[in-house]
Amino acid sequence: MTLGIATNLEESPAETFTEPLDARALAARVEAGHRITESEALAILGTPDERTLELVAAAGTLRRKHFGNTVKVNYLVNLKSGLCPEDCTYCSQRLGSKAEILKYSWLKPDEAVHQAGLGIAGGASRVCMVASGKGPSDRDVDRVATMIGQIKDEHPEIEVCACLGILKEGQAERLAAAGTDAYNHNLNTAESLYPEICSTHTFQERVDTVGQAKDAGLSPCSGLIVGMGETPEQLVEAVSALRDLDADSIPVNFLMPFDGTPLAGTWHLTPMACLRILALVRLAAPATELRMAGGREMHLRSMQSTALAVANSLFLGDYLTSEGQDARRDLEMISDAGYLVLGQEDIDPAELAARIRHRADEAPARPEAPGCGTACGSGCGSASSRGCGPMGAEPVLRRRGAGTQENPNA
Ligand code: SF4
Repeated sequence: MTLGIATNLEESPAETFTEPLDARALAARVEAGHRITESEALAILGTPDERTLELVAAAGTLRRKHFGNTVKVNYLVNLKSGLCPEDCTYCSQRLGSKAEILKYSWLKPDEAVHQAGLGIAGGASRVCMVASGKGPSDRDVDRVATMIGQIKDEHPEIEVCACLGILKEGQAERLAAAGTDAYNHNLNTAESLYPEICSTHTFQERVDTVGQAKDAGLSPCSGLIVGMGETPEQLVEAVSALRDLDADSIPVNFLMPFDGTPLAGTWHLTPMACLRILALVRLAAPATELRMAGGREMHLRSMQSTALAVANSLFLGDYLTSEGQDARRDLEMISDAGYLVLGQEDIDPAELAARIRHRADEAPARPEAPGCGTACGSGCGSASSRGCGPMGAEPVLRRRGAGTQENPNA
């Protein structure tokens, strides 16, 4: 069953596209309540590069209607890194991963709360408390509930999202009782591709966990990892499934092909392709928070601020196991493109960036200077010693923030 994009073309033969996509007309129809069909979704993905900015502008009318000129800033805290028994092929924390990521067990609650506070000071209105693993034990849930309770005591206005994997009965309720606002569990890709992506759990388990979170009153957050070799039809299938879930927020991750994982060296995306994918999600779920998430730096590259015309949300600073663009640059990008940070609308985002600079100036110098030193022009702000891949900078392993003695990138 699909609730979003109609995937049975026989249901809507008159809407099968034979003409080039009229993105503006489609966006107007979506605004009037139309739900895009599979053929329209495929036409969006098939938009030629030279017409992709028209598509972005059209999808951007929906973003403006629902989210104005605000950008929601989210901040990740990696509570437990690596050491996962699951085998998700895209993941640097997977069983058998040779990626030289930070590996540590649970952060102490004070450390987790401290890390979250630094992201909040950088403008984040949501902190995402993430732990590797198939799913939490009841003891793990209690541990995270304690951290979340502490964050909510100190920052009652801030949303806290937990991302702990597949939940067992009663765990979502326990998190909700502790004050957790949201739960993230990504579908990642199409059900038809899932057996090639992971053998240790199923797509349905992921769907069920999002349902459990929703039933417990948590705001469901579920998204994608694109660029794993999915076909356009599978991408449409995945977006359709996300529409079925009716998540409140959809993060779109762009595959970071870590060395030491099965998907190392996988580069299927271009900046224009990323924009089309974001436009597809916006047109499929016009009123849903759409986050440009991990991998935006290396795949969108200089088109990141253009992507904000469609996406209304991003992660500030670093990711779970890799380093993102300098958080100051994130905020300057938001300011340069004329947006305001949600919840901080009375401050120019560049001023938030300056506050981060102040804190960073007080920090001990990092052993590596930002910037990869190559001429890729990606503006990745990374500290790669390996140079850049064919489509941009290689993932740079995180060596700061949670689990280290270094100040975080925020
Ligand atoms: S995505 Fe999650 S469950 Fe899969 S390997 Fe990575 S940490 Fe483990």
